[in-house]
Amino acid sequence: MDYKKILKEHTFKTWSKQKGWEPIIVTQARGVYFYDNNGKRYLDFSSQFVNVNLGYGNEKVINAIKEQLETLQYINPSFGAEIRAKAAEALLQVMPKTISKFFFSTSGTEANEAAVKISRFYKKPSYKILARYRSYHGSTEASISLTGDYRRWFVEPNTMNGVVRIPEPYCFRCPLKLKYPDCNIACANYVDYIIKQEKNVAAVIVEPITGTNGVIVPPKEYMPLLRQIAKENDILFIADEVMTGWGRTGEWFAVNIWGIEPDILTTAKGASASYVPIGITGVSKEIGEFFEDNIFAHGHTFEAHPVSLAAIPAVIEEYKRLNLLSHVKAMGEYLGKRLNDLKDRHISVGDIRGVGLFWAIELIKDSKKTPFGDYEDKYNGKLTLVDILAKKLLEKGVYVYNGPSWFIISPPLIINKEEIDQGVDAIEEVLKDADKEFLK
Ligand code: PLP
Repeated sequence: MDYKKILKEHTFKTWSKQKGWEPIIVTQARGVYFYDNNGKRYLDFSSQFVNVNLGYGNEKVINAIKEQLETLQYINPSFGAEIRAKAAEALLQVMPKTISKFFFSTSGTEANEAAVKISRFYKKPSYKILARYRSYHGSTEASISLTGDYRRWFVEPNTMNGVVRIPEPYCFRCPLKLKYPDCNIACANYVDYIIKQEKNVAAVIVEPITGTNGVIVPPKEYMPLLRQIAKENDILFIADEVMTGWGRTGEWFAVNIWGIEPDILTTAKGASASYVPIGITGVSKEIGEFFEDNIFAHGHTFEAHPVSLAAIPAVIEEYKRLNLLSHVKAMGEYLGKRLNDLKDRHISVGDIRGVGLFWAIELIKDSKKTPFGDYEDKYNGKLTLVDILAKKLLEKGVYVYNGPSWFIISPPLIINKEEIDQGVDAIEEVLKDADKEFLK
């Protein structure tokens, strides 16, 4: 069978023009590596889209899923599958303690769609949702409208109404042109003003650490302040932990870093370690109780799918058995140090930022911090130097997910030091090309 031909002619490559797609045909994967049909091995240095948290081939998770398939592969969600209760019970043990009731879907975007609807039902007649420019919340209508980056531009003007932008805590390129710490966290303080001027704000949604837009770690004061502003103004605080959840930062959820508790937490990706599709919208007790006498007007045929739910308790057990949170902290320290060393040696490395096993290398092409590419390039389908370097890395057998001017380093959480070295060494090789551009 000519796999490549069929894939190209009869399946879509997303977020891309179709012409020119030359897919690598992947046939198997184990640990932190995947293999193509020529037997070539690739180190997965980004956990694909920051989702293969337990690596590939975890037998405990596979067996839990198999067992569920063999006992009850599907029952419509008006019935009560035992595994749904087991998944909820397991989640309660690891989620922030405000979160007490769950809606299960099959993706991050659906988790956020549900969060928007729930917020609007609960806060009616308030309906506005605050979201940041440098953000990604998913590709379906509400989520792409919340999304602040170039991916929203494709669907404009057909976006959901009621989204209001707030600035992001991106200190390397402060949108307010201020400098930390003299800025007094103006990006958060300004939100109070926005809420009051807008009126009818139902919620604010943020990625606690911005993911695809370049692993933007906020200054330590930002999240507690934003949480407090939401509370004082009586709006809901939604933490989009689709990417940051599940040990990625060395905590179960990134909000734990600052000890803050959201009213709604959305997650997906690592919740099943990507063995099966899953999306989770967790809400507070108060929100849950609101629906005792109000219709929860939402749902899907595949919501709370028993096979997807089976992964949740199994994944949580694996995190505990493998002591992954401590492992991530230890490996994160090592990876962070190795990446920071690159900054000393390579003039094109503008910024290294991250926490746990979630890092970005932001590249610049001159001393004015000009990026190698921006959202206009992505919108126009133009390859940037960083896209080209990522391709080069793939040829070298290292997969790294990238933005227009940054690499995202987010390996499976089971990675060891030798594997980290392999990935960082390969990156160091291609950085020489970026340095040459800088010096031109
Ligand atoms: N939210 C965040 C923070 C994400 O990073 C993503 C995907 O990368 C999503 C939502 C959407 O998740 P999905 O691709 O599962 O729909």
